[in-house]
Order: sequence, then C-alpha cells, then structure tokens
Amino acid sequence: MRYANSVIELVGGTPLVRLNSLATGLKPLILAKVEYVNPGGSVKDRIALKMILAAEASGELQPGGTIVEPTSGNTGVGLALVAQQRGYKCVFVCPDKVSEDKRNVLRAYGAEVVVCPTSVAPEDPDSYYSVSDRLTREIPGAWKPNQYANPSNPASHYESTGPEIWADTDGKVTHFVAGVGTGGTISGTGRYLKDQSGGKVQVIGADPEGSVYSGGTGRPYLVEGVGEDFWPDAYDKTVTDRIVAVSDARSFEITRRLAREEGLLVGGSCGMAVAAALEVAKDLTEDDVLVVILPDGGRGYLSKIFSDGWMSSYGFLNEHVAETADTVLK
Ligand code: PMP
Repeated sequence: MRYANSVIELVGGTPLVRLNSLATGLKPLILAKVEYVNPGGSVKDRIALKMILAAEASGELQPGGTIVEPTSGNTGVGLALVAQQRGYKCVFVCPDKVSEDKRNVLRAYGAEVVVCPTSVAPEDPDSYYSVSDRLTREIPGAWKPNQYANPSNPASHYESTGPEIWADTDGKVTHFVAGVGTGGTISGTGRYLKDQSGGKVQVIGADPEGSVYSGGTGRPYLVEGVGEDFWPDAYDKTVTDRIVAVSDARSFEITRRLAREEGLLVGGSCGMAVAAALEVAKDLTEDDVLVVILPDGGRGYLSKIFSDGWMSSYGFLNEHVAETADTVLK
C-alpha cells in the first residue's frame, strides 16, 4: 500500500512541467514548478511546516500552544493545516479588505480569524500589526512565526525546493526565476542552486513594478503575494543576480494565458514570474534550462484576474487578453 501518514507528508515534492505554447520562439527549456499541488494549495506549506518544527525544537512553541500571525493568505492556510495536525490553535489577524471567502478558508481549517480595520495607520492600536502583537503578548503560550524575519522561511526552501529542482533537472538547471514577497523562496532556493552549481545558476527575481526590490517605494500594484514596501530579513540580496519588474497588465495577461494555453490555472504572481522568465529566456540558448516557480493556484482569483468585468475595470482587457467565452441560450 502506498499512502501518506498525514497530510503533512504531502508537503513538497512538487512536479516540473514544460511550458510549450508560451515558450514558442524561445530557445531554452522552460520548466514551471507547480506549487499548487501542495496540500494547502501553495508553496507556503513548506515554510509553515519548517517554522513550526523549528519552534517546537527551540521550545518557543509548547504543546497546546497558539500560533498568532498577521496573514490572510497562503501562509495562513499552511500554518492552519500543520497546526491542526500537531495540536496547536491558530489565530490569524487580517485587515477587513480581505475577502470573506479567504477568511472562510482559514476558518474551515479550524483557525480563528480576527478582523481589523484596513483604514488605520500601522501604529494605531487597532491595526492588524498592533492587534497581532497584543494577542501574542496576551494569549498564554502564544507564538508568532513572523515569516518576514524567520530564518526557517528561506531554510525550508534551501532544504526542499532547491534540492527538488536540482534532482529533477539532473543538475542541468541554469536559471531560476521566482517572484519575491518575503524573499524566502528566492533566497533559500537560489542559495541552494548556487551552492550546488559552484555559483553558475543565475537567480532572477520577479517583482511588481513599484515595489522596493525593483527600485520603487511600494506604490500600490494589484498582483498579490509579491513585492514589498520594506526590505524583509528573509530576503538575501546577495543571492539575486537580476530583478525583472513586471506590470500588473503583463502579469495578468500571462496568468490568463497559463490557464488557457498550458492548462495551468494559477495565481497572478505566477503570471508575473513567468512574464519575467520569458523576458530572461529571450537571451538564452538551447543549452539553457530555466525553472520558474508557480506559487499558488488560480481559484482564489476567479472574481479578479479571471473575471472580464474586473479586468476591464482596470483597462487590462485588451488585444493581448482574450475574453472568456460565454454562450447564453435564450
Ligand atoms: N506568490 C504568492 C501567491 C505568495 O503568497 C507569495 C508569498 N508571499 C509569493 C509569491 C512570494 O514568495 P516569498 O514570500 O517566498 O518571496
């Protein structure tokens, strides 16, 4: 019999799939690493598992403890599923701009969600940063993973994502492209691939136009999960050889094409990373092997990127972005 002993054993070990239609006219082999097949649906399961195991080992997280984190997205799902399996409670603090659907996903896994006003300054006692700090102080046995500064975030990628890519490409990978949010994925994976290749693998970060990594100040952009308005400790600047800035319009165009042409229904940061990968690939040869990370699936974005109404309200529906086809019977 072949089975996992718990859902935790299903974290990682994700497949590489070749991009065909999107790679037309480009010379290198372009491989996408599909992270939505993780049990929580994203790359963040990897860091959740490592952060929790490390906190158990250091004694920061004690049996029956409570995990408190200001997150509404993929990291929350990862933490919630690992926490329930290992007997911890979870309290997630999120601003009220986060959709009810996203909050319900966290509740479905058994987490408690505390909703705070979006329209207050970070230092306001009601902001989600302040509330999560206060809850961490007040709840007995509380522990805050803080993915932005937790060394287990990049370490999880050094120990899993990097070795998987190296093994699955037989050490032939030459370029690695990832979107940068906390910086954990690119720093940990990129460092491993550089260590294995004697520094040869080129590491390229994809960043939404306006974010700090590509020289901006954090100007608002719509692609979710990537870009920052500060430099997190989880990001190791020395690993990245190049940063490619990508517009929202281009990120969402490629996101839609991944679903329509490659059968990969994925999130907007995937479109952004692939857009950067295609840019990099223009200068590469048949001998190059480029791996790009697709961090999550597209179901969480159906009412945004995959909605013609939402896309056209931002002017993103144009000759490059095909409308979705509907047939209405009268
Ligand atoms: N894409 C999505 C959808 C994410 O949730 C994240 C994590 N914030 C990233 C990309 C970027 O990953 P990292 O935080 O490791 O830089």
